[in-house]
Parts: sequence; structure tokens; C-alpha cells
Amino acid sequence: MNFLEERIQKDGIIKEGNVLKVDSFLNHQMDINLFNKMGEEFKNRFKDANINKILTIEASGIGIACIVAQHFNVPVVFAKKTKSINIDGEMYIAEVESFTHKCKNQVIVSKKFINENDNVLIIDDFLANGHALQGLLSIVNDAGATVGGIGIAIEKGFQSGGTIIRNLGYKLESLAIVDSMDHITGKINFREQ
Ligand code: 5GP
Repeated sequence: MNFLEERIQKDGIIKEGNVLKVDSFLNHQMDINLFNKMGEEFKNRFKDANINKILTIEASGIGIACIVAQHFNVPVVFAKKTKSINIDGEMYIAEVESFTHKCKNQVIVSKKFINENDNVLIIDDFLANGHALQGLLSIVNDAGATVGGIGIAIEKGFQSGGTIIRNLGYKLESLAIVDSMDHITGKINFREQ
């Protein structure tokens, strides 16, 4: 088991409905030493990708993305969630369905902060069905920028997002892939990587 899998095993709480709670170290209280190790690992996995910008989505991607960005020495842009706005020519807009809140949000990024010269590493905390990622990918594509890679802390491999995104041809690296989890026994199985 790697450092993140060990931490999930120790402190993760499995909830009904395929939700893994990791708010003691990742989603609410944040373990910065752990984030730093994640940054080191992503830097290692994307060392030849020539990343010049990191893109994430609020809220829980931001903390991780900032620490990861220190390893790449690049700025972080986060997509902002908004209920609904009038289409504004200055923004890239994508619609994202929230896995945890079961509602739809628009996410927006100012055109000032991403353009065709950017080679973007997308970072997020979780990958479930892939809606958040699809939204971020559509923003990068609308900007004419390049997706240099995608780094996810925890992928729930029993949901469809990972397969969909890999089939689209993106280099997707997840530090921990949960292949199954059981809220009754508390057992978590990780994919061998
Ligand atoms: P997706 O769009 O891939 O279906 O879901 C990804 C987003 O939903 C992530 O940004 C994350 O915030 C949230 N999410 C999905 N599954 C989980 C989960 O099991 N636990 C937590 N804490 N967040 C999740």
C-alpha cells in the first residue's frame, strides 16, 4: 500500500451510497504533509509533461492543487461554482452535476487565466462518475489549451469516471484507486498499480 492508501485505510470512513469520507485529512481538516507527498508524487508522474498551469475546481480541490503547484512552480486556477449566470463573453462556462450534492452547477473560469499557450494539469480530490472532470476538460478545450495530464487523489474505480476519461485518451493518474468498499464491514480494496 502507498502512503495515501494507508491513510485512507486508517482514517477514511465509508458511508452508505458509495461515499468515502476523508474529512479528517483531505476534505475539511487538511494534512499538509500528506498533500506535500502527493505533490511530490504527481511531480514525479508528470515530470516530462511541461506543465505551466494547474486547474482545479472549488472547493476541495483547491488545497491539494496549491500544494501540488509548489512542486511544479506554476500558478493554480480554480473553476468557480455558481448557481446560474448569464452567459458572459469573458468566461468559459461548463455545467457540472455534483456527486455529493446531487445538483447542477455552472462552473466558470475567466478567459484571462487560461489560453491556447497553456499546458494544463487538472487536479482534483475525487473521481467518481467524472462529471467534475468533464466540466474542467471542456473548459480547457474551449480555451484551446492542452491537457498535459490529470491527477486525482482518490479514484473510486467502481464508478464510471476513470474508464470514460482514460478511453478519451487522457493521461490520468490516481494516487489511490478504490475498487470496492463496504460500509458495513468497513473493508476497502485498492487496485494494484
Ligand atoms: P464526479 O464528478 O467524478 O462524479 O465526482 C467528483 C466530485 O464529487 C469530487 O470533486 C468530489 O468533491 C466529490 N466526490 C465524489 N465522490 C466522493 C466521495 O466518495 N467522497 C467525497 N468526500 N467526495 C466525493
